Amino acid sequence: MSRPPVDLHTHSTASDGGLSPTELVQAAAARGVRCLALTDHDTCAGVAEARAAAQEAGIQLVSGIELSSVWEGRGVHVVGLDIDIDHPAIKDAEAHQRTAREIRAEEIAVRLEKRGAAGVMPLARKHAGPALVGRPHFARALVELGVVESEGEAFKRYLGAGKVGDIRAHWPEMATVIRWIKDGGGIAVLAHPGKYDLSWTKLRRLVSEFVTAGGEAIEVSYGGENPERIRELGRMANKQQLLASVGSDYHRPEYHWTDLGKFPPLPEPVTGVWERWI
Ligand SMILES: [Zn+2]
Ligand SMILES: [Zn+2]
Repeated sequence: MSRPPVDLHTHSTASDGGLSPTELVQAAAARGVRCLALTDHDTCAGVAEARAAAQEAGIQLVSGIELSSVWEGRGVHVVGLDIDIDHPAIKDAEAHQRTAREIRAEEIAVRLEKRGAAGVMPLARKHAGPALVGRPHFARALVELGVVESEGEAFKRYLGAGKVGDIRAHWPEMATVIRWIKDGGGIAVLAHPGKYDLSWTKLRRLVSEFVTAGGEAIEVSYGGENPERIRELGRMANKQQLLASVGSDYHRPEYHWTDLGKFPPLPEPVTGVWERWI
């Protein structure tokens, strides 16, 4: 059983996180994280600030991004680690995703308004601040409007997989986002594989297509996952000769069930993608 002093999946205010890149780096360093990846949704806007803060704090920063995509009609997230944030392929990815997010946010707002959430868009924008509007911002807006009592309820009733606010039509295919990451010099990592509500048979097919498309690593341990599944994901990584990645998927201090550098320990030996950085 081991837990390396790394966190390779985190979010800042550059997307839907609660801490600025600097605050995130400082909090991670304070918790003993020696190597941190900032992986905001569809943007690298926080990476430069995080890099400067990491230098100051004396920890390693890995440039990252988490790209939304679809595979067989389902939403799948792919993390890109150690990308060149100035590479044209990464710039293309950010531009494409920005447009997709804007169109999607408008559509989500229309659908939510039809269900009684009048004025949801300006509130979601307020919560997003300078970042692009995502579902967590809508969740907070729905709480503020009194449509639901908690963000959890907002996802359960309106925004989660298969609900009215879950619009995937504009995301690129998984193979496309893997290519962007690879062209941009990075390593493509299948994010939180247990969160797609797939049977093991279907998950194995997803992983094998991920490998065929050039994916090199999968997250085997991440915030909120159970030990049984982590063991199975570790086996899957070894079998497919994939590198293993780990991360908290940290978003904000109020989400008390996760913390920086915190994820369930690894039950069996894996080859960690982090070994190249620490
Ligand atoms: Zn994700
Ligand atoms: Zn994430």
